[in-house]
Amino acid sequence: MALLINDLCIACDLCLAPCPNKAITSGEDIFYINPSLCTECVGHHAVSQCVKVCPVRAIVPDPEHRESKGELQAKYEHLKAQKAA
Ligand code: SF4
Ligand code: SF4
Repeated sequence: MALLINDLCIACDLCLAPCPNKAITSGEDIFYINPSLCTECVGHHAVSQCVKVCPVRAIVPDPEHRESKGELQAKYEHLKAQKAA
């Protein structure tokens, strides 16, 4: 499932660069994850890079975007194909 950033976010910027899918956008108060770009890092890393670096644990599973590992892998393949086109 895609992840989301909740209001614990302190807009520290640390999660932007590590995201392999450029799924994170900065905001004034909190940052946002685009669920159509977040693969939970499937295809790139064994663990979610944003979760690893977030100092306040503001990044959590998004209950409105539940996806299986297979679906996340398919999303990764789709994004890869889009990039190559
Ligand atoms: Fe980006 Fe991975 Fe975090 Fe999703 S889990 S927002 S792909 S760093
Ligand atoms: Fe917000 Fe955590 Fe990202 Fe920092 S690392 S901008 S606190 S979500």
